Amino acid sequence: MLGSPTRSVASHALNPRPRHIRELIAAGRPTFSFEFFPPRTPQAERKLWRVIRELEALGPDFVSVTYGAGGGTRDRTVDITERMATDTTLLPVAHMTAVDHSVRELRHLIGRFAGVGVSNMLALRGDPPGDPLGEWTTHPEGLTYAEELVRLIKESGDFCVGVAAFPHKHPRSTDIDTDVDFFVRKCRAGADYAITQMFFEADEYLRLRDRVAAKGCDVPIIPEIMPVTKYATIARSEQLSGAPFPTRLAEEFARVADDPEAVRALGVEHATRLCERLLDEGAPGIHFITFNQSTATREIYQRLVPVRRPAVVAAAAQP
Ligand code: FAD
Repeated sequence: MLGSPTRSVASHALNPRPRHIRELIAAGRPTFSFEFFPPRTPQAERKLWRVIRELEALGPDFVSVTYGAGGGTRDRTVDITERMATDTTLLPVAHMTAVDHSVRELRHLIGRFAGVGVSNMLALRGDPPGDPLGEWTTHPEGLTYAEELVRLIKESGDFCVGVAAFPHKHPRSTDIDTDVDFFVRKCRAGADYAITQMFFEADEYLRLRDRVAAKGCDVPIIPEIMPVTKYATIARSEQLSGAPFPTRLAEEFARVADDPEAVRALGVEHATRLCERLLDEGAPGIHFITFNQSTATREIYQRLVPVRRPAVVAAAAQP
């Protein structure tokens, strides 16, 4: 068992934590949250827990761990999510995917999360193992689209369910309009909130939000941000998101590509400016991809939160 919870009991007593992300968003102040990925080795898992404890001290609104395409990392995601619920002050959101799962297995997983008090979920279709753009095969007793997973979780109890949104459109979608129609459909299946794929220009998020609003859908969409901390992250972002990195920004990074410190400083600066613009434009929060590191996320968070949420800083400073 790692160290004791770092947020003071007094701050919890003053601000009892809402159980559901939709309540946090409805409270009207921006949410700040962190995403991790499941570690592959015991050493990486020890490091992850150090990072989780460091970021826990910042009092994020919620945290999540991605769910792999198969094998041992899936169990690790479930174990870490459960442990976040039982051994920390954090509010975990469980990522779930339909990949290679029967409905029966999905029900079992939902029950396992509910058993440790995890009632916030992110319902995803997931990608085929190996090649994310390879042929999708539905499990013979499983589900084909995230929309069906949203329904399954909602039918299973009092869960708050999020879905994925794609500012550029999903790489499999033929056009943006169809993509938005299917997004709205999964919201109408019962989604309470959405989190976007990473993007690097605020206008991409704003255009998505306008398109969704034009279809009469008001599900809050939380932008997901990945700070560029290494030059190689740019190529990785294209692989992960299936969207091109903005040319002008790529040129800015190219000018300092030989200086790792300058790349990192530019990445933190750019991510901070992006978050500020998004919050000014009324985004309901910011979800940070951490890559299981704490430093860049903490720097951006500490630049944003004193201005946006001064009460959080005061509570965290209490003995
Ligand atoms: P869906 O909403 O089912 O959409 C998949 C495709 O089908 C889209 O092209 C969509 O337009 C289309 N479509 C949707 N409904 C219909 C319909 N009824 N009829 C026809 N076409 C339809 N992946 C993981 O494996 N693990 C994770 O932990 C994970 N976390 C993520 C977190 C976030 C914030 C995001 C944005 C993505 C995450 N992903 C994760 C990636 C995600 O699983 C993939 O991008 C996947 O390909 C799409 O998932 P979805 O839930 O959006 O699928």
